[in-house]
Amino acid sequence: ATASLGERTRGDFPILQRTVTDQETPVIYLDSGATSQKPQEVLDVLQSYYERTNSNVHRGAHTLSREATSAYEAARDKVAHFVHAFSRNEIVFTSGATEAINLVAQSYGRANLVAGDEIVLTVAEHHANFVPWQLLAQEKNLKLKFVHLDPATGGIDVNELEGYLNEKTKIVAFQHVSNVLACINPVKEIVQKVRSHAPNAAIVLDACQSLPHMVVDVQDLGVDFLAASGHKMCGPTGIGFLWGKEQLLNEMPPWKSGGEMIDQVTLESVTFQAAPGRFEAGTPAIAQAIGLGAAIDYLQKIGMKNIELYEHELAEYLYEQLQTVPGLTLLGPTDPKKRAALCAFYHESIHPSDLSTFLDMDGIAVRAGHHCCQPLHAELGIPHSARASCYFYNTKEDIDALIASLKRTVDFFAGLNNAADEADDDF
Ligand code: PMP
Repeated sequence: ATASLGERTRGDFPILQRTVTDQETPVIYLDSGATSQKPQEVLDVLQSYYERTNSNVHRGAHTLSREATSAYEAARDKVAHFVHAFSRNEIVFTSGATEAINLVAQSYGRANLVAGDEIVLTVAEHHANFVPWQLLAQEKNLKLKFVHLDPATGGIDVNELEGYLNEKTKIVAFQHVSNVLACINPVKEIVQKVRSHAPNAAIVLDACQSLPHMVVDVQDLGVDFLAASGHKMCGPTGIGFLWGKEQLLNEMPPWKSGGEMIDQVTLESVTFQAAPGRFEAGTPAIAQAIGLGAAIDYLQKIGMKNIELYEHELAEYLYEQLQTVPGLTLLGPTDPKKRAALCAFYHESIHPSDLSTFLDMDGIAVRAGHHCCQPLHAELGIPHSARASCYFYNTKEDIDALIASLKRTVDFFAGLNNAADEADDDF
């Protein structure tokens, strides 16, 4: 058999060669939903930038500054190309998706929404796509409406959305892929409903969990804004971006202010650059942006379609195998074909932190907690869950190791409970 994508790419990631706890075999990293690992190529670009090019961008005529500027702006071109933007001016570098969504809420939101206007979200949103809208709603006396889950599919109830849309709907913000449910939301179907029932709404897509894993084409999806984080797609931390339609961006007021984003400053007045410059105040995250460009080069060499296809296999395998662990409840769509390659779960009697700690002793990294989705967990009636999330560098063998470790852990706790029961019987 030919080697899987995971087997072929794993060696590109130095960190995946190290061990943790007292294990003899390398760490099994199943927490890419929180952040992805970085390939050697990206690490090399960061190192070489600081060794050879480091300089401030946009304002120097000297060689280093010109080189830094062209590398930084080349990274913008790479991002624009990656998301199929209409123009490079539509890419605003931010510190991450969180900052990108805050930018839309505080610039577009403050400028365009008035008391009584409505924002539609889903109950499954990450806090990053929740709290900025809650704050805006408090500030401007807006109404928030939430699309719930569909018990039949385990994903978002897209049919419920229609009833919430009207002339007053000014924002519809939702995630492409849920970082807890693993559902892949039907963006085009949602966009169509919004356009026909809420003509005044801007559509904001949180693409944090989709962009690293599949082909994402903003022109095809038809949204107005898209937010993503570089660190989840093999890039460094501290860099992400907002994609927005150029005309919308140019109509939006500046958000943060200072150097770089201005056109003319006098003692009395100031004018601003066009997008994206007007939203990039101060010295940007130059090395990180260039690192993100290198990550995109790396992903495109593998091919996003190849990543997508391979991760479908992992998604199905993960979901099917987790079902064989006694006492686990799995969150999200029950149809494995409708799932991304992550799965959150909880055990009927073992705390998710205990599960995660026991897995760690076996050298397996999974996350436990609310995954920045407290409203979703409340909706599901559980305080927290554990989550295993894959990337293309994972293999079915990683999932086998996860399952074996989970089963050992469940057995261990069952043994403890039995012993406790027997001790009770003695009294
Ligand atoms: N949205 C989703 C769906 C996410 O998974 C995350 C990261 N966990 C974010 C938003 C926020 O991204 P960041 O913390 O990188 O800004």
